[in-house]
Amino acid sequence: MAIILDGKKLSETIKQEIAVEVKKLTDSSLLSPGLAVIIVGNNPASKVYVSSKKKACAATGVFSLEVALDENISQEKLIEEINKLNKDDRINGILLQLPLPKHLDEHAALEAIKPEKDVDGFHPINVGKLYIGLDTFVPCTPKGIMELLKRNNVQIAGKNAVVIGRSNIVGKPIGALLMKENATVTIAHSKTQNLPELVKNADIVVSAIGKPKFVKGDWIKDGAVVVDVGINSVDDPSSPKGYKLVGDVEYEEAEKKASYITPVPGGVGPMTIAMLLSNTLKARMNK
Ligand code: NAD
Repeated sequence: MAIILDGKKLSETIKQEIAVEVKKLTDSSLLSPGLAVIIVGNNPASKVYVSSKKKACAATGVFSLEVALDENISQEKLIEEINKLNKDDRINGILLQLPLPKHLDEHAALEAIKPEKDVDGFHPINVGKLYIGLDTFVPCTPKGIMELLKRNNVQIAGKNAVVIGRSNIVGKPIGALLMKENATVTIAHSKTQNLPELVKNADIVVSAIGKPKFVKGDWIKDGAVVVDVGINSVDDPSSPKGYKLVGDVEYEEAEKKASYITPVPGGVGPMTIAMLLSNTLKARMNK
C-alpha cells in the first residue's frame, strides 16, 4: 500500500508558514504582499478558481485585488490594465486567469506582465531562467509537486522520471524541475508510441493529461512514485452534485503498487494555490 502524498494537509502547513511571514511584515508596519488577479469574461470555472485564490489570500493576510474585465475588452485595453498593475506599488504579483476569450492574444498579454510580478512564472524571461537554472518564479503546479516530493523525502536524483503531457503550465516545467534535481526525464505526449512500456520503467510518474483513468494500474512499476495532476469530472449518480473529480490514473490499482501516490482531489490541486501565495510572498521580499 502506497504512502499518500497529502497535498491538502501540506498546503495548510505552507499557508500557515506564509501567514507567519506576512505578519512579520505587517507587525513592522510594512506593506503585506499584494496579488492582483485579472479575470476576463464570465467563464464559470475561472470564477471558481479566482474566488478560491481570493479566499486563500484573505486567510494568510495577503492583500488581493480582483480586476474583472468585460468579455469583449480589446487587446489594447487589457494591456493598459496590466500596465496599471505593473506600476501599482500595492501589487507584487499579477495573475492573468486563463483561458482568455478567443479574440485576445494570450502570449502578448502574459508578456506585458512585468517579469518581477509574474507570480505564475509564464513570462518568457522567467521560463528561460527556469530552464537555465536561475532563481525565478516557478509555475505554481510544478512548484507544488516538487514541494510535495521534497517535504515527504522522496528521492529524485538518479531516478527515471516519466512526465505525461507537455503543456507549458505543467508538463514542460515539471520536466525541467525534475531534471534540475538530477532525475533522468522522459516527456511523453499524445504522439508518444510506447507509453505503457515507458511508464513500466519509471521510478517517478507524473501524469498531466486530463483523461480520466488513462494511466492503468498495471503500468505502474512496483515501488514507483505516482503524481496525478489530472482533474477530470466524471458522472457519479451517488454524489449530490451528480459528478465527482478523478485523476488521470486508475487510483485503486496504482495505489497497490506505488510507494507514494497523490490522491485526486487532495493531492496536487491544493498545493497550486499555496504556491501562488508563496510566489507572491517571494515577489514582495524581492522588492
Ligand atoms: P493540456 O491539455 O494543455 O495538456 C495535456 C497534455 O496531455 C498534452 O501535452 C498532450 O500531448 C498530452 N496527451 C493528451 N493525450 C495523450 C495521450 N493519449 N497520451 C499521452 N499524452 C497525451 O493540459 P494541462 O493544462 O497540462 O492539464 C493537464 C491536466 O492537469 C488537466 O486535467 C488539468 O485540469 C490538470 N491540471 C491540474 C492542476 C492542479 O492544480 N492540480 C493544474 C493544471 C492542470
